[in-house]
Amino acid sequence: MKSMTCKQLGGACDLEFRANTFDEMAALSQKHGMEMHQKQDAAHLEAMQAMGELMKTPDAMKNWQDSKRKEFDELPEI
Ligand SMILES: [Zn+2]
Repeated sequence: MKSMTCKQLGGACDLEFRANTFDEMAALSQKHGMEMHQKQDAAHLEAMQAMGELMKTPDAMKNWQDSKRKEFDELPEI
């Protein structure tokens, strides 16, 4: 199992997610992002907007995901 923070995954806080795979990690981060969106948390809304901009460019989004996946792969097991 590995851990990454909300910030490491393009979010805005230090909340830690723990998962066995990158896809699981991404799903946790997305779920948290949606909760924060519902609470209209300003910092997360801003971070999500930045991600939204990134998603307009398919290559940029793919590069971002690849680099995060690599970051995940390189993390030590906890
Ligand atoms: Zn967060």
